[in-house]
Amino acid sequence: MKTVLITGGAGYIGSHAAKAFSEKGYRVIVLDNLIYGHKEFVKWGDFFNGDIGDDYLLKSLFCQFQIDIVSHFAAFAYVGESVQNPRKYYDNNLAKALVLLSHAVKNDVKVFQFSSTCATYGHPEHIPMTESHPQNPFTPYGKSKRFFEEILRDFASSYPIRFSILRYFNAAGADPAGEIGEDHDPETHLIPLILDAAMGRKRGIEIFGTDYDTPDGTCIRDYIHVTDLAAAHVLAAEKALNAESGIYNLGNGDGFSVKEVIEKAKAVTGRDIHVVEGERRPGDPARLIGSSARIKAELGWQPKYASLDKIIETAWAWHQKRFQTR
Ligand code: UDP
Repeated sequence: MKTVLITGGAGYIGSHAAKAFSEKGYRVIVLDNLIYGHKEFVKWGDFFNGDIGDDYLLKSLFCQFQIDIVSHFAAFAYVGESVQNPRKYYDNNLAKALVLLSHAVKNDVKVFQFSSTCATYGHPEHIPMTESHPQNPFTPYGKSKRFFEEILRDFASSYPIRFSILRYFNAAGADPAGEIGEDHDPETHLIPLILDAAMGRKRGIEIFGTDYDTPDGTCIRDYIHVTDLAAAHVLAAEKALNAESGIYNLGNGDGFSVKEVIEKAKAVTGRDIHVVEGERRPGDPARLIGSSARIKAELGWQPKYASLDKIIETAWAWHQKRFQTR
């Protein structure tokens, strides 16, 4: 049985990855400092409450377990905050991640898996964006991810460790079994905010800009179901364990505008949702759509929940279960 250490395994994507690895027969160990994570999301594997930059804790963890794979999700991910406070982002997403990676190398971890992002590409030069798209991130968040990708590549050329880098487009949806889902505080993502409005937890949803160069004037994004994302991590880890490192985009290759997402959410929830047309949010590209042709061809990845209906249905089921009593 192989062992995977999942950092950020009490968070949104990390907890879904913990479930996916566990269902494929891996022993799962979760390390999460619970700043943004939720203890109750750790349902698969052993839990350690701590920081990825905690040298002492990492020493003892790597001593206690023979870890084959580190799947690293523990990062700060508020783009706007990263502009206000870059130190916080470089400290956690880069400096502390380097501490973790160094322990992994010292302890003969075979694969280091990294949650990266389409934000490492910056403004799109072509659509859909492939892995060879130039990387020109324009926020400290995107840069912290890009720099860490570089570090990983250098480590893998100099030390006996392989990597898988997964660049996500817009992760959304929730575990179809309803065991885990999205719960950010503060919440900034479009779909959970729309569902908050549908539930009456918020008065409405504000559209950030209606004058983009898109058919309905609102931004287009590529939404990918978190369970499909999690499954891709297992495939990518196995490829790196058995063969070679890899860099893969994860999206559905399909884009939906903010207005289309709102309309779909109205249909799925059967609720009326109050919409306010607001100003653009600084830094938002009009369109972000990823090509996942590489991961499909090389790893045989096939999304099971690719439709926007399925994404919103699972998110809505989770949202009601999680928030209706609060
Ligand atoms: N968005 C919006 N209103 C909101 C939150 C988001 O109009 O309250 C838009 C945002 O400008 C972007 C899209 O929805 O075009 C997705 O935003 P999100 O923050 O979910 O993900 P991002 O694409 O920024 O990673």
